[in-house]
Amino acid sequence: MECSKCKSKNVKKNGARITDNRGRIQRFKCKDCGFRFVKDDGFFRMRNSPQKITLCLNMYFSGVSLRKIQEHLNAFYPHNSSHESIHSWIEKYPKIIGDFTDTLSVNSSSEIEVDEMEYKTKGRQSWFIDSIDTETRFMVSSFYSKTRTSKDLRTVIKDIRKKTGDKVKVITTDAYNAYDDVIKRTYGWNLKKGRYNIIHKTRNASRGEGFNHKIERLHNNIRERTKIFRGFKSVESARSIMKGYEIYHNFIRRHQAIRRCPYELATDLRLTENNKWLELIRLAKKSA
Ligand SMILES: [Zn+2]
Repeated sequence: MECSKCKSKNVKKNGARITDNRGRIQRFKCKDCGFRFVKDDGFFRMRNSPQKITLCLNMYFSGVSLRKIQEHLNAFYPHNSSHESIHSWIEKYPKIIGDFTDTLSVNSSSEIEVDEMEYKTKGRQSWFIDSIDTETRFMVSSFYSKTRTSKDLRTVIKDIRKKTGDKVKVITTDAYNAYDDVIKRTYGWNLKKGRYNIIHKTRNASRGEGFNHKIERLHNNIRERTKIFRGFKSVESARSIMKGYEIYHNFIRRHQAIRRCPYELATDLRLTENNKWLELIRLAKKSA
């Protein structure tokens, strides 16, 4: 705990404030500069309870439309929230959680599948490039972009390498020709062994080899949940919202094939509360 003004660690508890939406909030005082402050737990100055906000996140990312969410709130909460408020939470919190979850190292298997999905931003074609570990089903990295250039692919491949270290030996993609160079360059040539540090496999659906099954199933799930809207209003908005789906897939939803959440197999993180959205937001704020 440090002073939010002078960064001194010499702080003490200094009373509490009782709020309508967030209950009792501990106040602190800096013994060095005298500044009084509260710790932002992710819900600082929010006019709605963390419970209500995270309920909306959970409904939205499990595929309930904003209009339907409002109908639910209307029935269960005395003060309904505007469409805009709910939308702002959906954009705000995945970013906060993502800044934390993206720092976790991923204990992946040796094979990862990478693919793209087509979306629309303001009516224009865009791409969601994503990746899944074939064993833990963890979505290791994803990136939303207006283009699908080598640079865009590299963002994802570099991030996979950063998070998984030297665990990945095989990356499987579709036949899109920009992948091969990006993957090989990112992993590099092994002089000792006289080969690349990675094997790049491609599967060509049109040649009847079938699609990459695990990523295909992931895409079906994401499509199922994103069919509730026609397109994104900006790349920034799309990045937050798609991050929300990634978080939902990795940390919230129990994966049928592995009978648990992918993060339980792929990371050292252990979530213990029923409301995992809330737990993740608090963890993210603590580590920020
Ligand atoms: Zn201070």
